[in-house]
Amino acid sequence: MKLSELGEFGLIERIRRQAPKGPDVHRGIGDDAAEISLPSGHHLLTSIDLLIENVHFRRDWTDYESLGHKAVAVNLSDLAAMGATPRYLYLGLACPGETDQDEIAAFLKGVLDETGQYNVILAGGDTCDSPGPWVISVTVEGSAPANQSIGRDGAQPGDLIMVSGTLGDSALALHFLSKGVEPEASLLARHLRPTAQVELGCLLAEHRLASAMIDVSDGLAGDLEHILQASQVDGLIEETKLPFSEAFRRITEKHPALRELALYGGEDYELLFTVPPDRASEVMRLCAERKLPVTTIGTIGKGSGGLSLRDRSAAEKPILVRGYDHFCRFRD
Ligand code: ADP
Ligand code: MG
Repeated sequence: MKLSELGEFGLIERIRRQAPKGPDVHRGIGDDAAEISLPSGHHLLTSIDLLIENVHFRRDWTDYESLGHKAVAVNLSDLAAMGATPRYLYLGLACPGETDQDEIAAFLKGVLDETGQYNVILAGGDTCDSPGPWVISVTVEGSAPANQSIGRDGAQPGDLIMVSGTLGDSALALHFLSKGVEPEASLLARHLRPTAQVELGCLLAEHRLASAMIDVSDGLAGDLEHILQASQVDGLIEETKLPFSEAFRRITEKHPALRELALYGGEDYELLFTVPPDRASEVMRLCAERKLPVTTIGTIGKGSGGLSLRDRSAAEKPILVRGYDHFCRFRD
């Protein structure tokens, strides 16, 4: 059955029935605005992401359930990067009336499974007909105790640069997809169903361990540059310390040119953060206890936003940053 047969209000009613209600949501789906109370002493943190068909995703490369998961995960990742607890989500959805209801149902399942995993409540949204592409707009609200969130601007000379998980897997999957080659399952999963590092972000904030933090969405080098510029410091990355998955290591050993996807590829949704040297062992201990993989990949120095790489031959060279920029694809 087509979406046009269910209608806008039929769809909204279906979403309302499926979405769990939260105890602090005084008014949610079904009224003109959501009304919510936050824990006392907490600040509100809000982030929004747009996902546009053929810009951020291709429907022939993803299933609808994964699309729903990813739309939520990329948004949760932004709150994780602030060290905030995600609480409420708002879903804007525009798709053509001829969309099959099963596709919407699968998309919605992905959204609700992903929010449910973090006890995030879908508290509202907007639903429209689209003359062409799918457009998904996701807003997340979260909270953190006053003065606990972590911005991009706190890195200090002497801090260590750390990153969670592994780098480049999603970009490597996208590389294969764009060549018409099916990527291996572990890489495809990183691309289609990224995981927001919610637990790690909150842990670092609670213990005040990170001086600056960002999530890696546009590529390690470009996202690190945002920290360096906001903090007015320089950064040095050690190429040999970059954390790779087994699949990424194996494939890039055969095709060394692809190794740069770890630096310039995007959509890792790992956390990149800086840590004062006297707090580094505490980060490693707490993360090991919780089985959250974290690697030290470099150091912060005095400067004004410059990024360098010490490569495999121990030569240091400046990095001309090539993070993803929607309006300016090739900045260097
Ligand atoms: P309005 O015309 O006042 O914007 P809508 O008819 O768009 O109201 O929405 C009615 C209710 O349904 C609102 O509470 C809105 O937040 C909710 N809603 C609409 N679309 C979605 C969606 N895609 N996901 C979750 N809630 C939605
Ligand atoms: Mg509306």
